[in-house]
Amino acid sequence: MKEKIIALAKSNCADIVGFASADQFDKNDPVFKIFPNVKTVIGLGFRVLRGIYRGTEEGTTYYQYTTMAVENMEETIMPMTALKVCNLIEENGYIAVPQRRHQQIMREENSTNPEVAYDAVYRGKAAENQMNFVDAAVKCGLGEKGLSGALLTDEFGPFVRCCFVLTDMELEADEEKSPHLCDKCGKCIKACPGRAISEEGEVDPWQCAVYYNGANGTKNPFMPPDAFSDFENRLEIISGEARVTPETARKILDNIFFYPPAQHAYQCSICGRACDTACYIHLEEKGVLTKKFKTPFRTRDEWKFSIEDFK
Ligand code: SF4
Ligand code: SF4
Repeated sequence: MKEKIIALAKSNCADIVGFASADQFDKNDPVFKIFPNVKTVIGLGFRVLRGIYRGTEEGTTYYQYTTMAVENMEETIMPMTALKVCNLIEENGYIAVPQRRHQQIMREENSTNPEVAYDAVYRGKAAENQMNFVDAAVKCGLGEKGLSGALLTDEFGPFVRCCFVLTDMELEADEEKSPHLCDKCGKCIKACPGRAISEEGEVDPWQCAVYYNGANGTKNPFMPPDAFSDFENRLEIISGEARVTPETARKILDNIFFYPPAQHAYQCSICGRACDTACYIHLEEKGVLTKKFKTPFRTRDEWKFSIEDFK
């Protein structure tokens, strides 16, 4: 049955499939609240196309990442694959509970998800039983957690997204991978245009939201020279030096309308997940990724506008 599940998932867009026993999860883990009789957690990993990052790398098109690597994957491709796996399991008389990340709910009361509009997020009780997706992916053997908190896989580095199926079918677990990709190089931290990741690898979600959405004008081809004209610290914001609070972040985000959002409250990523791209380039240069390409991802120096253009 395990082989059948892997074959079905892989013939329906999943790239990596891994299995964890429910015993690997803490007894207070949300998986037991979602499905008390869960025996196996199946992890489905999907590559984010390397070519989708091209538009940000070149500074040309940005919506391809948001629509094709976030919105369509999360809302269409990944749920479809999970449902097909669930149908196969239920055809065999077991229960299958699909688990995709709901981008608009979160446990923390005063946090946000950079990928969606901050005012479209439902906080608190609605999300208390949402799985920890990176933790579950590691338990399923899909990859390891990097310094920045991203899931790193042998095949695609951080260019991956995942969803899960909980089932009462007992299936052999895969081994968790011992961490071997992240060497704590810190390139993810340095690459962030808004200094949203601390030296310890903690991501400040509001700082990330502001710069994910493009507040750094030196990395945003669509920002007009007079952007944030009502802000006293506008040059700090535009250069990526500003430190935001949840309140100031909301104000800044209300003044970012340089690029159209996608559907389902998804915001356009102007940073293009520079943290993940820097990590990918680093792992590619080290030659540790198993999925090889004929040309390197970065072929010339990174572009950047001058802060002088906004003075
Ligand atoms: S960029 Fe370096 S430190 Fe950051 S997650 Fe990747 S390997 Fe780890
Ligand atoms: S590079 Fe983008 S996604 Fe990564 S932490 Fe910075 S703002 Fe957030």
